[in-house]
Amino acid sequence: MLGLMQDHQLLISSIFEHAIKSYPTQEIVSNTVEGGIHKYSFKEWGLRTKKLANALKSTGLKIGDRVGTLAWNGYRHLELYYATSSSGLICHTLNPRLHHDQISYIVNHAEDKILFVDLNIAPLLEEASKNFSSVQAVVVMTDKKNMIDLNVPKDIKILCYEEFIEKESDEFHWPELDERTASSLCYTSGTTGNPKGVLYTHRSTVLHAFGVNLKDAIPYGSKDCVLPVVPMFHVNAWGTPYAALMCGSKIVFPGPKLDGESLTDLMNAEKVTISLGVPTVWLLLLNHLRSSGKKLETVKRLIIGGSACPRTLFEGFGEEYNVDVIHAWGMTEMSPIGTANNPLFNMNPVDKKEFYDQKMPQGRTVFGHEMKLLDDKDNEVEQDGVKQGRLLSRGYWVLKSYYNDETQKDRFFDGGWFDTGDIATIDKNGFMTITDRNKDIIKSGGEWISSIDLENICVGHPDVANAAAIAIPDEKWDERPMIIVQPMPGKTITEKDILDFYEGKIAKWMMPDKVAFTETIPLGATGKILKNKLRDMFVKN
Ligand code: ADP
Repeated sequence: MLGLMQDHQLLISSIFEHAIKSYPTQEIVSNTVEGGIHKYSFKEWGLRTKKLANALKSTGLKIGDRVGTLAWNGYRHLELYYATSSSGLICHTLNPRLHHDQISYIVNHAEDKILFVDLNIAPLLEEASKNFSSVQAVVVMTDKKNMIDLNVPKDIKILCYEEFIEKESDEFHWPELDERTASSLCYTSGTTGNPKGVLYTHRSTVLHAFGVNLKDAIPYGSKDCVLPVVPMFHVNAWGTPYAALMCGSKIVFPGPKLDGESLTDLMNAEKVTISLGVPTVWLLLLNHLRSSGKKLETVKRLIIGGSACPRTLFEGFGEEYNVDVIHAWGMTEMSPIGTANNPLFNMNPVDKKEFYDQKMPQGRTVFGHEMKLLDDKDNEVEQDGVKQGRLLSRGYWVLKSYYNDETQKDRFFDGGWFDTGDIATIDKNGFMTITDRNKDIIKSGGEWISSIDLENICVGHPDVANAAAIAIPDEKWDERPMIIVQPMPGKTITEKDILDFYEGKIAKWMMPDKVAFTETIPLGATGKILKNKLRDMFVKN
């Protein structure tokens, strides 16, 4: 027998309507590309979003068409998120830190019809546009006064955002879509092989936003002021534009300015309470706070994910600035939140060491997402906190296949399980620790050495700015670890300093065989260490 409750479709337009009706006066603040701060209320955002939806409709776009964005975190980007998805179009965010060849590959693969671009990203778009095969128009995200000329092929129309929406009506009736309708599209960064598209649905996005807002995940509230440093082109800023609006948080967008000084000043000026980003951003912020003597006056929580958070960040922010750093893990393929580290009722650390020990794992799974470990023969691995295995994931917001890409079929298992490509342990309380990417783990004499562990220890040295561990081929052991060190500016460190620093912190057989130094460790488009590049630079074939 079926129950007798209503079964409304889970649609992104419902988050929109809730936000503008329940929190009309809440603010959205943006550091703009043109310069200066822009502020308006949820109500004004709503009216402009509907104007944009009308403008998009007037171009003849149909449900399911892809609209690309090449933009920083800002209010117009938020208008685009909702105007596209709520009206049945697909919001396809593109990463402006990619090479123009990758941009044209992705735009053509997605068959984007219209592209929206921020002013200072226009040169990249011009380069990429030479190879576009589907784009009919480019809209520059600015007003008439700041509008620029674009050098793109003649058959691509050039429009100015403010003029595009200016004369449109601010009324729009969102269509009653099936909740499984595609809502947005994001390509993985593609450090190996071509980028692969993940096509989210309205249902997965709304359920993910609910998941994010569970107390044991990230949660936002109407008393919060959220600053997503994580870009809106990087897995939808980890779902912040949906989850924060669902709860009516004030939102602050940093635009393209992600350096320590700009972030500190914006956070203090706007009274930010929670912020999210990758470890490299927070390392820069911490260094800025230390050197400038400034404080974070209102920030209570920093959510860190995207790569493993070194202990020094938990301790630095916790001890010196009274900010609670929360470790989270996820990936583009899961919208992205999989786990977050929040303590259990009976976890009462006896001292600071234990307190920070407990913060290190990537956390427990959020309801709506499940995980398990498999060994190389696909047998399940015991969750004892020690045994490592391939981490598999499934859930309401995990992909079931990539978008028009058949190359990854062996990563999808019966029952909806997806092989994340990560290696992890899970302890008896469900706390998961990522030990490595499958392709980065160092396999030495049948044992696995975590490159993340080696890096975490090394960046704890006060003269080390960043560090990366890679495998070097070895006749006897197959592979041995090498650590590549980027010293703090103006500091000199020796191989002996580094090896002495490892002494007593890891087993002897895990000690790096080699230490190398570099001025800068190369980072990819999402702030992660480019290990392939380091292998090319330091490992002779
Ligand atoms: P995102 O960087 O937003 O998590 P990506 O899809 O670009 O999304 O990358 C996902 C991969 O990043 C994961 O499979 C994992 O290897 C790595 N990763 C994400 N969060 C963490 C974390 N907290 N610790 C270690 N690795 C992480």
